[in-house]
Amino acid sequence: MKIAVVGTGYVGLVSGTCFAETGNHVTCIDIDQRKIDKLSSGTITIYEPGLERLFDRNLKEGRLSFTTSLSEGIKDAVIIFLALPTPPGEDGSADLKYVLGVAKDLGQLLEPGKFTVIVDKSTVPVGTADKVAKAIADNSGGKLQDGVDFDVVSNPEFLREGVAVEDFMKPDRVVIGASTDQAKQIMGQLYGPYVRQGNPIINMDKRSAELTKYAANSFLATKITFMNEIARICELLGADVDMVRKGMGSDDRIGKRFLFPGIGYGGSCFPKDVQALAKSAEEANYDFRILESVMNVNEEQKVYLVPKIKKYFGGDIAGKHFALWGLAFKPNTDDIREAPALYIIQELLNAGATVSAYDPEAMPNVKEVVGETITFAGSPYEALENADALIIATEWNEFRTPDFSKVSSLLNNKAIFDGRNLFDLAQMRQMDFYYFSIGRETIIPNK
Ligand code: NAD
Repeated sequence: MKIAVVGTGYVGLVSGTCFAETGNHVTCIDIDQRKIDKLSSGTITIYEPGLERLFDRNLKEGRLSFTTSLSEGIKDAVIIFLALPTPPGEDGSADLKYVLGVAKDLGQLLEPGKFTVIVDKSTVPVGTADKVAKAIADNSGGKLQDGVDFDVVSNPEFLREGVAVEDFMKPDRVVIGASTDQAKQIMGQLYGPYVRQGNPIINMDKRSAELTKYAANSFLATKITFMNEIARICELLGADVDMVRKGMGSDDRIGKRFLFPGIGYGGSCFPKDVQALAKSAEEANYDFRILESVMNVNEEQKVYLVPKIKKYFGGDIAGKHFALWGLAFKPNTDDIREAPALYIIQELLNAGATVSAYDPEAMPNVKEVVGETITFAGSPYEALENADALIIATEWNEFRTPDFSKVSSLLNNKAIFDGRNLFDLAQMRQMDFYYFSIGRETIIPNK
């Protein structure tokens, strides 16, 4: 099948590459000339485990190509995916200017009489498929009829950065909101190879498909936030959140996943999707109270370690120097959108401290945002040199079992502020570290 993907970011590039992997011919389109030049010359633009191998193979075999031209990219395409940004607008609602802008262009470019499936893969509010269809029809000069010449399908993407290829190639489910049988059949044919193990393709109406994505992300953000509040209560009442988590998670109704407390959720999806669902609810005259609390708690959680750090240093951290391990919003990605580490850096700099950071993949992206305000180290240990304490913001595997005697000898103070609960409390006690984590006992040497 000939497929076009408009928007070649995290979702567009993964989707395009994975669609090519099952034999489709995919053209990825983007307005970013630099990105398209890099991709066309065989250089991958994001870090995502397993993606490069598939990218190389499909590029070489001629099934994957890149262009900045929408008209060229969609030529002969049976399906056109929109994987465009939907950032929060000023009022928190999803800004649809990219999606509707491309929809208008498609109105002028699509051929009448040739049925094309237009797919909203971006996360978009309920009613967007209808808006996209209207934008296409209204800009076609009366040539295109919704449901006859094209159908707009909602096919939200559930991939997780860090395991995106695996999620895409073997999705838990594929949600398809389509109104014509023809679009349903084409989408079913496209996704068939990805659900061979029996995971479902769930067909539904467009509005339900659109809401499913927001409901899923908001539920997960709520689950994380609930555990972050349980962690705070654990600290106040002298319980251990790891024990509580295990005790809770062994109940099938709750499940073991997404129960790890930390320094809040970040990334390009949860923060904006929770905000957008709350805004959609408000527009429908419904006050979605849980989501308001989730957003407020998460704002505090991102900088939850900072008061602990200040307290340890007697209130004033001006002139102190900190090692920061982890910048990406989660491990196995270079994505730093809404990463808690960025908020921590800002708080430390505001208080007059300095920072030396290390992250296996995300340093170039952070450098673009913070410039020379912090220094970047070549290794986790280099970041520790002359630091007054270590702060951990992302749970990369390589941070889990460091050489603690080296850590201890490089730090000025043996103090670790761990936002991801990486280390064993008994080991920290045995090694005489001051160790602050989330929802667990604070370890103080000789106590
Ligand atoms: P991204 O910012 O990484 O990529 C978007 C791309 O679209 C950019 O490369 C940008 O240059 C390009 N673009 C902007 N305007 C364009 C235009 N007019 N024509 C062509 N290209 C254009 O965003 P992303 O993370 O891939 O997210 C895309 C959508 O998918 C969002 O709605 C997001 O909520 C949703 N989503 C993201 C994830 C994720 O993990 N990142 C997961 C599921 C869903």
